[in-house]
Amino acid sequence: MSKKLYIETLGCAMNERDSDHIIAELSDKEGYGLTNNPKEADLILINTCSVREKPEKKLFSEIGQYAKIKKHDAKIGVCGCTASHLGDEILKKTKAVNFVLGARNVSKISQIIHKDRVAWVDIDYDDSAYVFSQGNISNVRGFVNISIGCDKKCSYCIVPKTRGKEISIPADLIINEVKRLVDNGVKEVLLLGQNVNSYGKNFSTIHRAINFTQLLSEISNINGLHRIRFTSPHPLHMDDEFILEFANNKKICKSIHMPLQSGSTKILRDMRRGYTKEWFLNRAEKMKSLIPQLTIGTDIIVGFPGESEEDFLDTLDVLEKVSFDTMYSFIYSTRPHTEAKELLESGKIELVDEDIAKNRLARLQDRHKELLGITNQAQLGQIHEILFESYKEGMLEGRSDTNKLVRVSGDESLVGSICNARISEVRGAQLFGELV
Ligand code: SF4
Repeated sequence: MSKKLYIETLGCAMNERDSDHIIAELSDKEGYGLTNNPKEADLILINTCSVREKPEKKLFSEIGQYAKIKKHDAKIGVCGCTASHLGDEILKKTKAVNFVLGARNVSKISQIIHKDRVAWVDIDYDDSAYVFSQGNISNVRGFVNISIGCDKKCSYCIVPKTRGKEISIPADLIINEVKRLVDNGVKEVLLLGQNVNSYGKNFSTIHRAINFTQLLSEISNINGLHRIRFTSPHPLHMDDEFILEFANNKKICKSIHMPLQSGSTKILRDMRRGYTKEWFLNRAEKMKSLIPQLTIGTDIIVGFPGESEEDFLDTLDVLEKVSFDTMYSFIYSTRPHTEAKELLESGKIELVDEDIAKNRLARLQDRHKELLGITNQAQLGQIHEILFESYKEGMLEGRSDTNKLVRVSGDESLVGSICNARISEVRGAQLFGELV
């Protein structure tokens, strides 16, 4: 009987991709099968996120819970970004963990499971060829890393410390990986990187010079591939060449994630984002003028140290003007190894009062909900191409080219197909359609 792996994945799409890689490595090399019951697992892995403080704080209570219910000889491993920055502190704090594996080191999973009480968290390690794992492939979407690490220095962000310096994965490896996925039935690929449009700036060895726009164009030439998505581009690097390719290339889905973080030019400067409110609006407006159906998603931090009411009103103003479709919004959370933390500790900047920050977050989220209600109502009667991803409670569920989640009555056999559907009903954020 095969050994069983239970894996809990927190955080972003990058972590999901890393978990897929871990699952594939352990299945190919060590004969593990997946279970969703930690009590019957031989190996329990927690793939952690460190972008905010709360999940990190919960890590040790979670480890304690798993330790209580696990089989007596089962191992527990902590992977991902919190593993990278806490390293062997995790081993010192709890005896329940057998190993710690940093986000940059996921390719070493099949080696580390045979060790005990070790932490491998080297961020100079070149893991840029790890797109190669031959795991199970869904017939809908494949995740493909195009770069690892990040060279930006956003003052609130811990990622450069947990994932290390940016390295682009050679284009030929990426293209071969996409071809492999397509040959196995994948219709849509999601290209992943912390900052996808700096792709091509750093390769670990000499490779043909190619930028992100050219990479998109080459990938779109792959026969049988229907859709390309990517996350995340940096607003600073969204140049005209990129916007034109995005607008004109029919395989690129017309939905983009543009992390705003703040609408205030002053706060953006303190965050070291490198762009202004006006630049962000200019990029969004240019894309909307070329692609009327475009949807834009974003990330927003409220209550960054020093944020005044006026700064926050600038964020609300950008929300009004761009009308974001998806919005991940959070109150600023102080992270170790960041410039903002150092400035707070030296007294050069001050935290925003917690009640004020909570109030701003609620106002932002309420207004976002209202605007989304209006834009969703405008979807009524529109026809979208939907790639069906699953079948739940008698209905097909899938995403439009514009990333709208749509539920449609139909036969389960259509999962994995792309069909036209007319939007016939809107219930809050939920869209319902009929096959046409
Ligand atoms: S671009 Fe900024 S926010 Fe994004 S991962 Fe890099 S440092 Fe963090």
